[in-house]
Amino acid sequence: MARVYNFSAGPATLPEEVLKKAANEMLDYRNSGMSVMEMSHRSKEFEDIIGEAEFLLRELMKIPENYHVLFLQGGASSQFAMVPLNLFRKSKKCDLVHTGNWTKKALSEAKRYGTVNILASSEDKNFSYIPELDKQSFTSDADYFYICSNNTIYGTRYSEIPDTGDVPLVSDMSSCILSEIMDVSRFGIIFAGAQKNIGPAGLTIAIVRDDLVGQAMEITPTMFNYKTHVDNKSMFNTPPTYSVYLAKLVFEYVRDLGGVEEMEKVNKEKAVALYNFLDNSGMFSSTVEEKHRSLMNVPFVTGSDETDSRFINEAAQQGLVTLKGHRSVGGMRASIYNAMPAEGVKKLIEFMKKFELENS
Ligand SMILES: *Cc1c(COP(=O)(O)O)cnc(C)c1O
Repeated sequence: MARVYNFSAGPATLPEEVLKKAANEMLDYRNSGMSVMEMSHRSKEFEDIIGEAEFLLRELMKIPENYHVLFLQGGASSQFAMVPLNLFRKSKKCDLVHTGNWTKKALSEAKRYGTVNILASSEDKNFSYIPELDKQSFTSDADYFYICSNNTIYGTRYSEIPDTGDVPLVSDMSSCILSEIMDVSRFGIIFAGAQKNIGPAGLTIAIVRDDLVGQAMEITPTMFNYKTHVDNKSMFNTPPTYSVYLAKLVFEYVRDLGGVEEMEKVNKEKAVALYNFLDNSGMFSSTVEEKHRSLMNVPFVTGSDETDSRFINEAAQQGLVTLKGHRSVGGMRASIYNAMPAEGVKKLIEFMKKFELENS
């Protein structure tokens, strides 16, 4: 069986080494006589797995001591509610930068519990850029300031993190966590669904600064209170054990390759190669302003729906799959997360060149 190059935006490709290791340990995890899936989450084996996963993530992201690392469920989408429920603790106001579908969903959840000030938006140009921010316009007594660091659907990325002073900055990093070096101390909360750059769906990571824990709104359900999970070390209820185990294997893989610094270097090389090709092509073009282009999700179009769909079909026949763009942008999207080898991007560019030559 030949594995394909899978450009899916999520759930996304995982490192082959990790899948092989998991396959090897599937029936009998380290002489326990059972798979990790079948194990009590209170067992010594699993406690070691989750402990090691936290240790590795802390090491990879250089997470300071005063931050908690939580292994949760409910997807990034649950964080859209969990963030306001836990952070609307004084003025019940937040600032939000609107950059696409995911901030729209975050916005509509937050609005249920307090006042959301849309500080800036890139909706006027179909979210093809990150808006400029004027510090003077920030709400000084906001309980938090919300951004999505990498917009999976539109392929935009913040090249600079806003300076929000004393107001805690919250970022949805579902599609860019571990892809480039991030200074965690600039944020109050970072969260990410695992299925883009970490592991299987079902696991959600939240990195929460200690002083933001313990002041949740009265109505907050127990499971939506960060304090519940801090106090119980992510074991208040059964965590998504197998997903945590696979995340641990991915963290080991990233560490062994040289850590986030090395990921960033390779990711930049992959992205630069693809954008360079797009910028020089007579057929394909990027949909995103140069300064704000994502390293992870690369939408592109030919300008003709017919050509787009022919390209997607022919690419799939070459083992380059899931290149269809999101319906709100159209065309194609290549998601080139950490686990997409440079070789996969090279193959994609070669195929695009060939397709262009044959069709113009
Ligand atoms: C995929 C994605 C989500 C949604 O994640 P779920 O785990 O499906 O809830 C939210 N935000 C961003 C940036 C994403 O890429």
